Amino acid sequence: MQVGVRREQRAGERRVAATPETVLQLRALGLDVAVESNAGAGAGYADAAFAAAGASIVPELIAESLDVLLHVRPLEPETAAGLRPGTVSIGFASPASELPGVRALAAAGVTSFALELVPRISRAQSMDALSSQSLVSGYRAVLEAALRYPRFFPLYMTAAGTIPPARVLVLGAGVAGLQAIGTAKRLGARVSANDIRAASADEVASMGGTFIHLDLDTRTADPSAEGSGGYARELGEDRAKRQRALLAPHVAAADVLITTAAIPGRAAPLLVTTEMVAGMRAGSVVVDLAAESGGNVEGVIAGRDLQIPVDGGSVTLVGLQDAASAMPSDASRLFAKNVANLLALMTADGKVVPDFDDEVVAASCLTHGGSVRHAATAEALE
Ligand code: NAD
Repeated sequence: MQVGVRREQRAGERRVAATPETVLQLRALGLDVAVESNAGAGAGYADAAFAAAGASIVPELIAESLDVLLHVRPLEPETAAGLRPGTVSIGFASPASELPGVRALAAAGVTSFALELVPRISRAQSMDALSSQSLVSGYRAVLEAALRYPRFFPLYMTAAGTIPPARVLVLGAGVAGLQAIGTAKRLGARVSANDIRAASADEVASMGGTFIHLDLDTRTADPSAEGSGGYARELGEDRAKRQRALLAPHVAAADVLITTAAIPGRAAPLLVTTEMVAGMRAGSVVVDLAAESGGNVEGVIAGRDLQIPVDGGSVTLVGLQDAASAMPSDASRLFAKNVANLLALMTADGKVVPDFDDEVVAASCLTHGGSVRHAATAEALE
């Protein structure tokens, strides 16, 4: 069967959905692999390296001859519409926001697998691209902050005087936040963090951060912040307001603030108002990893650095965009492994045959046989 690896179309996207290493893995499964020329160029994987691993390099993928299409970003509706019925596609699909693409996949009869839907269970960890890419983004967020921060992160005791360590505050301690905590610690900063999930206090401590406990219980009917599958649930407006009020002194004390809070399928929660940023010291840096989904920080713009005036200078507010794509080589290495592992789960004797009795296959499938299988997306399309 023919697996195609596409050259990503979206401007600024440098990742690729396969690497020479995963081509070897797919070849060992009995699959043929065609890679669009220069598909890996932005990530440092040359056509020659793909060819050496046994892939054929083609100027353009021919939809009629593809059985499987591997991609990073959601397919454009016109690309989906050109695929043959029964083609299997694997990649991100943004089912909550890219509804025209989902509609086109269903209409074309594509069996599409959305990496956002891979269940967060131990068995599926090696296929969990949200986690692998969040790891890259969390690391990158700290480096972006460090480069803009006009001081050191670590403590230095020198003959010319002592430099105190930077105080880094991380809001949202999921996969990206924990990685940010670990990276800031490795750079020598003093790190504290907050999250609304009960389990996160231990997770923050395990990365060397100090957890900030906030008393958010305002006697609302359902004070639980835990949703299903280990995810957070959106706070009600009272508790969200109280969280912002309780966070304000911590934000004011931070030299560097990294925000990563998210609620699946929703706009990012607003954690930091303009007034809170205005309370920070001049020279401080705020990096909002949630900028592309609405932002945790009021006024943030994805892809832009803003200077927010404060007493004696300004605070830099960074709307981080394409953070994982900014580290394309390792981001692709992990992403390609996730994709190949999911494809391997559906492949036997050189044939890709999804088994919908397998819970990982069933949960990850977005469209199949002309309809949308993922219930929440199907509902949103009605
Ligand atoms: P995410 O990207 O959906 O959200 C990032 C973080 O923001 C989460 O920790 C969430 O609790 C937090 N958040 C939401 N609203 C907030 C608010 N108002 N204030 C502060 N923080 C807020 O999350 P994620 O990184 O994908 O991880 C979600 C969960 O899934 C975590 O518990 C993680 O440990 C778990 N997980 C499990 C597996 C697995 O078992 N295979 C894999 C990955 C992640």
